[in-house]
Amino acid sequence: MTIALSHAEIVRLLGLTDPAAIEELRRSAYDLTTETVGNAVHYRGIVELSNRCALDCYYCGIRRSNREVERYGLDRDEVIEAALFCAEAGYGSCVLQAGERRDEAFIAFVEECVAEIRARSLSERLPQGLGITLSLGEQSLETYRRWRDAGAHRYLLRIETSNPALFATLHPPAQHFETRVRAVDDLRTAGFQVGTGVMIGLPGQTLDDLAADIAFYGQRDIDMIGMGPYLHSQGGSMPASAMMAREPLLALGLKMIAVTRLALPTLNIAATTALQALVEDGRERGITYGANVTMPNVTPRGVRRNYQLYDGKPCLDEGSLECRGCLERRVIASGRRVGWDEWGDSPHARRRLPITV
Ligand code: SAM
Repeated sequence: MTIALSHAEIVRLLGLTDPAAIEELRRSAYDLTTETVGNAVHYRGIVELSNRCALDCYYCGIRRSNREVERYGLDRDEVIEAALFCAEAGYGSCVLQAGERRDEAFIAFVEECVAEIRARSLSERLPQGLGITLSLGEQSLETYRRWRDAGAHRYLLRIETSNPALFATLHPPAQHFETRVRAVDDLRTAGFQVGTGVMIGLPGQTLDDLAADIAFYGQRDIDMIGMGPYLHSQGGSMPASAMMAREPLLALGLKMIAVTRLALPTLNIAATTALQALVEDGRERGITYGANVTMPNVTPRGVRRNYQLYDGKPCLDEGSLECRGCLERRVIASGRRVGWDEWGDSPHARRRLPITV
């Protein structure tokens, strides 16, 4: 996919500090969003189905070696109920996310949940059923095929950073950058709409790295982006972002959204929860900088506090309906409308994979 901006121009835009210049960047990205992906903001209700994880990513609060976290796994009925809540609430899609596991019991469990959600969400209101995105880490091509066949059609697997040396500082030696890239490519082979993304403001990360991340999205022909600020986790083993305090980190997160929109106009870009952890209206600000997707939390309230990827994760005590109401107010306040009952696939994905069911 052709990137509409040069590397040097991307670095320059990410480095803007003058408020008037940043406002001009925001305005251009916001206007281009309406032109290319439309005025709607799409909801994907996120179901955090388990915090059990076989990996030990240094930044993450649910990593295997964090003994402080109480582990949980929703049962089949709880997953399906949370997903069907999304259908009833008018969210066109759900996201099933969890720590990474590759055992057959987990693979079959997800397969069954996906098939059941698809079958039970078909209705006059949702003739194609609920859109199902998975975010369950690196898996084999065969597993991806099984989950795609069961009825999931989008998959989010962050690359975390496109700089292999930086990737190595974030993960134990057993986790390889090349394997992650191969998994992203396997998702395409399996027929998924592919989402990826990075953490912004990682210790040691430069603006050149972030510009290369945007280039990576283009080179890999990515359909959707979920990226957000790196936030310290007490359960992790990495320091807080040495690079930045809260305000500049938020500003950089927002500039990344705007510049990605300008560089790759037809992608879906999410305003992620991590933005809201930095500032109460962080997701709404993300929407005004060019995001067109947001992911309200529909995980049962009782377990939510155990899916604490980073300190200060918001919406822990809110019920799903409260999240729905507050998000709608935020979307309307930012001048956009909610894409109720729509799958809201990106124009890029619709061109690449015209049949998505
Ligand atoms: N296991 C799946 C995977 O790795 O793709 C999905 C769950 S994983 C917890 C989802 C994402 O959370 C990661 O890709 C990472 O970018 C993000 N994350 C984890 N810890 C974070 C932190 N401290 N700050 C910001 N994002 C974080």
